[in-house]
Amino acid sequence: ALAAVSSDQYDSDALPNPEVITRLNAMFALPLERLQVIVKQIISDMKTGLERDGGAIKMLPSFVTKRPSGREHGSYLAIDFGGTNLRVCELVLNGHSSEPQLLQSKFQISDNVKTGSGAALFDFIAECVRSFFQTHHALDAHDWNSKRWQLGFTFSFPVDQISIKAGTLITWTKGFTATNVIDRDSVRLLEDAFERMNLNIEVTALVNDTTGTLISHAFQNPDTYAGVILGTGSNCAYVEKFANITKFRGPPPPPGTTEMLINMEWGGFDDAQVVIPRTKYDLLLDRNTPTPGCYTFEQLISGMYIGEIVRLVILDLARTGDVFAKATIVARSPLHKQYGFETSYMSRIERDHSFDLADVKALLEDDEFEIVGATLADRKIIKAVCEMVGLRSARLAAAGVCAVVTKMNKLNGCTVGIDGSLFEKYPHYPNRMRDAMREILGISSENISLEQAKDGSGQGAGLIAALAAEAAAAAV
Ligand code: BGC
Ligand code: MG
Repeated sequence: ALAAVSSDQYDSDALPNPEVITRLNAMFALPLERLQVIVKQIISDMKTGLERDGGAIKMLPSFVTKRPSGREHGSYLAIDFGGTNLRVCELVLNGHSSEPQLLQSKFQISDNVKTGSGAALFDFIAECVRSFFQTHHALDAHDWNSKRWQLGFTFSFPVDQISIKAGTLITWTKGFTATNVIDRDSVRLLEDAFERMNLNIEVTALVNDTTGTLISHAFQNPDTYAGVILGTGSNCAYVEKFANITKFRGPPPPPGTTEMLINMEWGGFDDAQVVIPRTKYDLLLDRNTPTPGCYTFEQLISGMYIGEIVRLVILDLARTGDVFAKATIVARSPLHKQYGFETSYMSRIERDHSFDLADVKALLEDDEFEIVGATLADRKIIKAVCEMVGLRSARLAAAGVCAVVTKMNKLNGCTVGIDGSLFEKYPHYPNRMRDAMREILGISSENISLEQAKDGSGQGAGLIAALAAEAAAAAV
């Protein structure tokens, strides 16, 4: 019989089997024609989502109808909750857009908080706020509770808002499952926890991290028309003409309102799985989430999931002997644990440009995975898998941004503020996005500037609380 590639045609210890690479590439590649179909479909789903509820892209009205002027003033608290960390900030705005003062504390969100009871989750948030006061206002411990604070609450999940400061959680994402939160007013739940803890705080704005990022980036760069998160999860908010939001049923916005930020919730795009080709690994990952079939676009893009896709590919290649044929993997290796292959490892692997992939070797053998006897060919295959999955993520994110700027009619120029660890830390990610945008939009792509918006969602929530206070004062 004819072997397709006989083992003496390459040195199997040093060179990966080209057939394996070709087969994987065929699964993960997103050629331009496919990207174009995806962009068209996103635009069409955006339009549907503005007309009625229940579509794949939820297109949630944010009730934010103004971008900052730079003249905002006052002191506001902000909470940023909804990913890996929780941050509590105090934002002091001095009436001109010079750097606002920002105090903050950061806390890790444990799995217990994510998956326990809703009351415990909101108690945890309130405790973090108390601890923030103790850290930053210890001297005036009697004082900080005598004033009634206004707080902007960034709650980075799909929330059906009925006003700037009220809304119900539609579904959890990113592995959160806390009970008794869905369909309840998130602001009420947080204020109840503040009351239980005797904290004198009123939530005056309920915000998504994408809208927070947009607003805080617009504070520095008024040409900002979209805010994107490429972190634990992925999503986008942008500036829509108010008249286009025909499904809007809330209390009428202030007279003269022409625009409103829309929280797209693009993570749910193509949940019917008809536009984007899925691999068996994507399907397997989805089956093992708390809500299979939901937010499958986010699963192809965001930091919580793409390491898991790589892990599933590697395990499958190990099973068929296409990788680690001569190696042993200890039973406790994180390779055997769901979500054990963190996206930061992908970054580290992609950053290794040495000819013998020395750092990949260190990662696999010593630092994390306890794999003994991996060959250079094994390391090259693993790096290639990271490249394919990382590139697919960046190209899908780029397709999303192209759809949004096209929908806004901003191909002549605008800025997109982007926050999250993928855009900030994953090697080549911004350039891969720009390359894909250039393929899709041609020369117009050069008018779109993708800018890093660091930690914008906390500051943004404070700013939105300030805008809400201005609007309330104007309405009196
Ligand atoms: C949530 C969005 C959020 C995004 C980024 C998604 O899982 O549904 O509301 O903006 O993650 O944090
Ligand atoms: Mg965040």
